[in-house]
Amino acid sequence: MSYVKGLKCRECHRYYPAEATYVCEFCFGSLEVDYDYDKIASVISRQKISSGPKSIWRYRELLPIDGDPTVGFHAGLTPLFKADNLARELGMKELYIKDDSVCHPTLSFKDRVVAVALTKAKELGFSTVACASTGNLAGSVSAQAAWAGLNRFIFIPADLELGKVVGSLTYAPNLVAVEGNYDDVNRLCAEIAARYRWAFVNINIRPYYAEGSKTYGYEIAEQLGWRTPDHIVVPAASGSLLTKIWKAFNEFHKLGLVGPVRTRMHAAQAEGCGPIVTALKEKSDIIRPVKPKTIAKSLAIGNPADGIYALDAIKQSGGSGESVTDQEIIDAIKLLARTEGIFTETAGGVTMASAKKLIESGVIPKNESCVICITGNGLKTQEAVTDHIGRPYRIKPSLDSFEKELRGGSKIKEEVWQSK
Ligand SMILES: *Cc1c(COP(=O)(O)O)cnc(C)c1O
Ligand SMILES: [Zn+2]
Repeated sequence: MSYVKGLKCRECHRYYPAEATYVCEFCFGSLEVDYDYDKIASVISRQKISSGPKSIWRYRELLPIDGDPTVGFHAGLTPLFKADNLARELGMKELYIKDDSVCHPTLSFKDRVVAVALTKAKELGFSTVACASTGNLAGSVSAQAAWAGLNRFIFIPADLELGKVVGSLTYAPNLVAVEGNYDDVNRLCAEIAARYRWAFVNINIRPYYAEGSKTYGYEIAEQLGWRTPDHIVVPAASGSLLTKIWKAFNEFHKLGLVGPVRTRMHAAQAEGCGPIVTALKEKSDIIRPVKPKTIAKSLAIGNPADGIYALDAIKQSGGSGESVTDQEIIDAIKLLARTEGIFTETAGGVTMASAKKLIESGVIPKNESCVICITGNGLKTQEAVTDHIGRPYRIKPSLDSFEKELRGGSKIKEEVWQSK
């Protein structure tokens, strides 16, 4: 059962059949999946969603597939929790973390989009899948395509973190390290996609892939008790996730599942690659491409495909954006770990640091609710923090050595050393 009307040009609104295509032939606008919402409204309900699968597929009616899902049965439905320790530190009343650092199977929100993309690729008859990746997509396509028995080609910038390379290569894809940045990789992949009948998840089947990001937004609304927050801080690379969370909230409202959407969307980027936030601050409608220079490699897209749509969503919602330095990213990774016990990657550091700035500057008022989007796992970008977290104490295997090394002149407070 499909609820898809077709692909619709975001610029001139022409319709196309739901095939492996992504640009409008008339105006070169990008294509987006459009649905028959009346039909969806007649079958969907809070109760039906709540009793559905414990994965992204509980929102299947709002995802662009024709038959039953075939990939990613455990992706999504990650924790959303009230972050009271962090809230206390920042002086906030109602602060939440949506934690995709534990998404199945590869510990980032990319597992959502890949589950949808590969299910669609199979429906469209592809046996080979591919992607251009800033890191997390590489791991997720490698893993989920391995499980689905698809051939896989993964293209990454050659300077990626070791954790991302190993986290892809272990699944035995054809991993191609391109000597260039992500924007170079993406350009090359568009050429390859034009030549071979492969499903590039974020190029020729991008309209379907991108819809997977909506599930992150649906879950937030459902887990907050069928409401949307006052604020949400979202990391932006291509700008797709931010755009789709906004779409998700508004679809839920259109279907009567939540009340009016008053959420302000805030973009988080690194200073070394912040074309969307720069456009916001300069009040410009044009996104000027940049050459990325940041430790947040998973967000290092200098020419963001959905940048203008992210800008639109931010403006419509009355939101804003903030960018942060490498040092602020590292400090924020440590802050989240120390307060909430979560080890996020550099992208999460960008989001956490941006949220902190927005709260401290009053853009996000302390008495309003806010969700911080943590989208990836810290074990994959260990080199970012390795030199900033100290070292283990090193001792001989004796009580004497233990006490001498730790108790003698250390910073550990005296009350800890109460004897039995
Ligand atoms: C890809 C990615 C994002 C943002 O992706 P968009 O291209 O803006 O949709 C955010 N966080 C992590 C960890 C990512 O891997
Ligand atoms: Zn068009």
